[in-house]
Amino acid sequence: MAAPADRIDALRAVIRHHEERYYVHDDPEVSDAEFDALVRELRELEAAHPDLVTADSPTQRVSGRPAEGFETAVHLRPMLSLDNAYSDEELEAFDERVRKGLGTEGPVHYVAELKIDGLSIAITYEDGRFARGVTRGDGVIGEDVSSNVRTIQPIPLRLKNAPDGRLEVRGEIYFPRAAFDRLNGEREAEGAPLFANPRNAAAGTLRNLDPSLVARRGLRAFFYHAVREDNVGSRGDAEAPTDGLPETHASLMESLSSWGLPVEKHWTRCAGIDAVKTFCASWAETRQQLPFDTDGIVIKVDRREERERLGFTSKFPRWATAYKFPAQQATTTLLRIEVQVGRTGAVTPLAVLAPVFLAGSTIQYATLHNEDEIRRKDIRPGDEVLLEKGGDVIPKIVKPILSTRPEGLAPFEMPAQCPVCATALERPEDEVVWRCPNPSCPARLRRSLEHFAGRRAMNIDGLGSALVDKLVALELVRDFADLYRLTVEGLADLKFEAKAREGGDEVEQGSARTPTARRFGEKSATALVTQIDNSRRNELWRLIFGLGIRHVGERGAQALAEAFGTMQAVAAANVDQLQAVSDIGPVVAASVRRFFDTPASTHLIARLEAAGLHMGEPVAEGRGPKPLEGRTIVLTGGLATMTRDEAAERLTVLGAKVAGSVSKKTSLVIAGEDAGSKLARARDLGVPIGDEDTLVHLLATPATWPFDNL
Ligand SMILES: [Zn+2]
Repeated sequence: MAAPADRIDALRAVIRHHEERYYVHDDPEVSDAEFDALVRELRELEAAHPDLVTADSPTQRVSGRPAEGFETAVHLRPMLSLDNAYSDEELEAFDERVRKGLGTEGPVHYVAELKIDGLSIAITYEDGRFARGVTRGDGVIGEDVSSNVRTIQPIPLRLKNAPDGRLEVRGEIYFPRAAFDRLNGEREAEGAPLFANPRNAAAGTLRNLDPSLVARRGLRAFFYHAVREDNVGSRGDAEAPTDGLPETHASLMESLSSWGLPVEKHWTRCAGIDAVKTFCASWAETRQQLPFDTDGIVIKVDRREERERLGFTSKFPRWATAYKFPAQQATTTLLRIEVQVGRTGAVTPLAVLAPVFLAGSTIQYATLHNEDEIRRKDIRPGDEVLLEKGGDVIPKIVKPILSTRPEGLAPFEMPAQCPVCATALERPEDEVVWRCPNPSCPARLRRSLEHFAGRRAMNIDGLGSALVDKLVALELVRDFADLYRLTVEGLADLKFEAKAREGGDEVEQGSARTPTARRFGEKSATALVTQIDNSRRNELWRLIFGLGIRHVGERGAQALAEAFGTMQAVAAANVDQLQAVSDIGPVVAASVRRFFDTPASTHLIARLEAAGLHMGEPVAEGRGPKPLEGRTIVLTGGLATMTRDEAAERLTVLGAKVAGSVSKKTSLVIAGEDAGSKLARARDLGVPIGDEDTLVHLLATPATWPFDNL
């Protein structure tokens, strides 16, 4: 057994590491339960050895750090985290502390709410109008993500019948499961890394610097708390709350609803801790049927007067606790670690497990993220491993069971070469992902062809993965255009080994499956050639999507086809014109431009056109994307990032009318440095006024006009 001081040091280092993964990178490596267990162990050790407690220990502060890229903002009052309870006994202990603190024998009234697995947010309304949205951050200072929060549909920009003055409401921004699945589906199609779970996706989205992207993703929110400055509203007894908010939490929840804020509807008032325990037990199972993820139940003392008497410890309110549902875990054997090569060349390890039943389904694969993670957790092929299924899509390996590890088990070695084309794998120093750098790697080509032929892209039925393998191996197909040269005669005699399809496993595997050879045959060949021929007449967006341009999903492809009409027009559009399309943000626009600037892409498009593929119809004159059509904008004062002429030209391209003087009909005045009489006139007339930031933002996301609902 290590000395307590050593163990404490080790725990602090590990906890800091995981805090950084969670809060800074939004990419945790351990489950919340594991993380909580580490913190609890540290707390217990520090309690037993108070002389070893240091000011910089992770237990001495509320965790979380702001990331770069957003302004920071101070919360009206600190956003504390809650103490946790993991069992009925711990709930009872909480209740006992509460009753002791209040000096009462009788049952205390609680409110129990579903704990939403999302990202905490504090939104300030001034006289009922949205003023700003700030993440929890470290509890005292968070990131000002107002521009993103504004785009989340269910969050009202104006409250109904809300109290005057400054009101801060708190809640959770989350991803509904359906929206999360759609997002990951799109990311997969775009070759972008998948989000591990809805919480990560919500955090990543909210901190994205592109508000138009946030607007599209379908985030939701629930609210459960409100804070007001003291000494406003009713002024009664000096001991009573003077902020004008309701006297019980249950009434506050009703107020939040009546102001037009979304409130999770399953909350309930419980008379005593037994009712709380029943509520927790009932949701441990039923929660799977909810359209969003919940990882526990929050229990709060209902009466504010009682809360104020209980007060706070240095870290937690004494009047609330979070009951965490038991983690769903199982142990099984790690048979081997395979590596997969994706469409972009990324090589990722995948754990192949002895099948085990966990949380409603049979698990055979688990994600291992990357080589570093395997090494850090010391997971070796042949180990018994602890498997956990949280909100994640794919279950993860928590740790190896060291006590049962066979003698002499070798650590996992990442192959030095691509398992498919044998090219030496590369890994840039600052990245965690190994890549096969060979652009004509058969694995990458196969995955690209499967994407191209996919139901959501060119919809070529009958081009299965075994056939794709064979066509690539024989070099009958070296790019998409080669598909259109295939003939019935050429295909019918092909003999190939159909791989046994395994559940959901459509990725390139480094090892072979059980082979069964068969001839393709005239009938199948004829059907396939007909399918391929039909795909020539597909709508343009299917082709654009099928090309697999990075960041261009199904919807992006549809938007491009709709706006530009022809492939030629898309290829000729500059970044501004691309961004002018609703649904296309700066990242996508840049990626599209990069694709068409690559000679290999131009060559491919020419070959596809020569093969007779439909390349779209020109759009009618003037039907290009004009998101600012009907808006009159006046520019005044000096700009730092561009000249006024340049700004005027870019606005005109987007359909705006740029006027020289301010009138009642002016939609917006952009006031730069030393703006004079035009600015004064705009103020007199009540015309919306923006600064250079507003202009830059408008040019970047012209489809979202931010001045209508305020
Ligand atoms: Zn390769």
